[in-house]
This record gives sequence, structure tokens and C-alpha cells, in this order.
Amino acid sequence: MQIFFPKEEGTEIRATILPEVAKKFIDLGIEVVIESEIGSKIFLSDDLYLQVGAAVSTDRSKSLSTADIICRINKPKMEEVAILKKNAIHVSFLDPFNEIELVNEFARASISAISMELVPRITRAQKMDALSSQANLAGYSAVIEAARTLTKSFPMMMTAAGTISPSRVFVIGVGVAGLQAIATAKRLGARVEAFDTRPIVEEQVKSLGAKFVQIDIGETEETAQGYAKELTPDQIKMQQEGMKKICGQSDVVITTAQVFGRPAPRIVTSEMVEAMKPGSVIVDMAVTSGGNVEGSMADEYVVHEGVTIIGMSNLPGEVAMDASQVYGSNLFNMIEEYWDAEHKKLNFDLSDEVLRGCVITHDGEVVNSMVKERM
Ligand code: NAD
Repeated sequence: MQIFFPKEEGTEIRATILPEVAKKFIDLGIEVVIESEIGSKIFLSDDLYLQVGAAVSTDRSKSLSTADIICRINKPKMEEVAILKKNAIHVSFLDPFNEIELVNEFARASISAISMELVPRITRAQKMDALSSQANLAGYSAVIEAARTLTKSFPMMMTAAGTISPSRVFVIGVGVAGLQAIATAKRLGARVEAFDTRPIVEEQVKSLGAKFVQIDIGETEETAQGYAKELTPDQIKMQQEGMKKICGQSDVVITTAQVFGRPAPRIVTSEMVEAMKPGSVIVDMAVTSGGNVEGSMADEYVVHEGVTIIGMSNLPGEVAMDASQVYGSNLFNMIEEYWDAEHKKLNFDLSDEVLRGCVITHDGEVVNSMVKERM
């Protein structure tokens, strides 16, 4: 059984696997091949991988076409699917609801494609949950980037020259990323407020020492997996009305609001941006899924009437070493969970709740019910 980790392409800084995690795969009895320079952007040489017993490939196409399992962070190019070995397992983020052609290509090539964003949010799968491991680091990076860009300090300072007031941070959306954003902003000494449409998070916000903003938007629902359901246009209006004043008082607004399988809700309007003081900062963490903030653009710093709107699309990549470490561990935990040591193969049983949730294609067919519905 051979597993191949191709080098990520383009602007990606993260590496799918660190040497210490590669060693864990090898200890399981799996042959590990990494593409040469997989860790070069985080200063990890090929030698470090060789030292733990991995093989280094300089022929990407050949390694893709011979591996039994291929693991990467980002979705593959279409042309790289066709060259995979029939019945190989491909694991990565896939964005399957928006990548129907790619999903069909996986089925055509008879590849078992696993989408990391569809690992169910259940206790047993927490160790494989890459959405959470990356969102947590993204929440941290968002605050660090906001603090770096803001023209004020986060903590209160009492100096001989006078008192500097603490910055006010408003976090919109309190899932995994939002909770880490709150915790990080608190550690830096800011005054933090937060809002989410799921009232259940109020206690979590308070336990981090932040204030939960009360806005009456009527009945809200969440799915069995704890995801927020989409608000009606009227509810969004009520939410915007309720937030206008708080945005105006905030030095930093961090938006993390997402609705599973849908475009992100547009929450912060230009009018709300204009109500903020010059020098303030907004980080739109939903920029790649539609954007929570009017005017935000992926990988741009847009300045609108003195307010900087940050739309970084790869916030976990700002702490790429840690992001690589936890992502690789998520992959290892998944493969170890289904590893049959005696027969040296994966138990690919689609009646298993976790696999049923995240396997998109298998045996030449699209097998995931949520993805099939979208098609
Ligand atoms: P997410 O990225 O889907 O969304 C981020 C947050 O945005 C959510 O808290 C959501 O309620 C909120 N939101 C949606 N619309 C909004 C709006 N209009 N205004 C303000 N906020 C809005 O969320 P996530 O971080 O992936 O977490 C989703 C859920 O899954 C949470 O309940 C989380 O606790 C749960 N979870 C469970 C596990 C597990 O293994 N049990 C693991 C991770 C997350």
C-alpha cells in the first residue's frame, strides 16, 4: 500500500504532511512517498522526510498514477484526476457542492474521493475534522492580521503620557473560527463582543470573557450537526439594523458567518462600513464563499472611507507550520481509523457513518447523498 503526498501548487504555503506525521504512516506499515520540495515553503527539506523513511519523488505524474492513496490539501486539477490509478483513494478539500464537474471526473476515473469538508461533526470524527483544525488557526490569524493593520493597540495602556483605551473587537459568527478569534482578541487585551444566530453559543462567548450581543431576529434554527440555517431576508435586515451601532463603535470587526452548503450571508453593508471610524479594520473570513462584507475581495486589502477590509483567502496558511501539522494529523487519524493491519488495506465500508458522510465517489459512481441532491 503506497500513499503519495503531492506538493501543493500556486500560493499555498502549507504542506500536507510534516516528517513526524509521515513517520506515523510508515510505522503503520504504509509506504510513504512525498513529492520533492513538499515542505520547502515552511523550510522543511526533503532530507527530513528521507530521515524518517519516506521516499522522495521527482516525477509527480508517475507517483500520482501509481499510488493507492493520494492525500493533498487543495482540490486537484481536472487533468490530474484522469491519471490516477483505477480504484485509488483521493483525500483533500474538494468543495464538492461547487465542483460538480470535478466530482463527475472522479466517478468517471473510478476513484474513491474523500472530501475533508464533509467529515461529519460528530464526536468520533473530531480527530479527523480538518475544517475545525484549520478554522481554529484561521480565527487566530484573522485577529493577528487585524491587530497588525489597525492603527491602534489592542490592550489598554496606562502611561505617563496618558491612558490608551483598549480596542473594541466585534466578532460576527461564533463557530470554531469565531471562538478562537474571541479568545485571541481577549488575550491581546481587547474588549470583545460577539453575535451568532445560534443562541446556544451565548454561554461559550461569556465563558471566554466576551459580551454576547442580543439582537432579536425571531426564530432561528440549526441542523442536526449544529450548523446554522439560512436566515430570511427580513431576518438579515433585522440583524443588520441591530449591528449597525456596534460596528460603528468597534475598531475591528471579524466576520466568520457561514451557512453549510450555501453562499455566506451578506451581513455588513457599505453603510455599516461607513459608520466605522477611519483606521478601523474588518476581516471577512467568509470572503471565498461569497463574503459577509460588502466590498470585500479575496486576497485584497480594500480601503473604503478609511476602513480597511481584509479578504485573505488562506488564513491558516499564515501559521503554515501548525496548520500543516494538524492537517496531516487529521489525515493520519482518518487512515489509521480504517486501516486493516493484517491485510494491509483500508476497510472502505460505506455503512460507516463517517465514511458515508465524506466519501463522494466510489466504484465509478457518485455515492454521497448530499452531493447527489445538488446534481
Ligand atoms: P460555520 O463555519 O458553518 O459557521 C460559522 C458560524 O457562523 C456558525 O456559528 C453559525 O451559527 C454562524 N452564522 C451563520 N449565519 C450567521 C449570521 N447571519 N449571523 C451571525 N452568525 C451566523 O461553523 P463551524 O465553525 O463549522 O461550526 C458549526 C457547528 O459545528 C458549531 O455548532 C460547532 O460547535 C459544531 N462543531 C461540532 C464539532 C463536533 O465534532 N462535535 C466539531 C466542530 C464544530
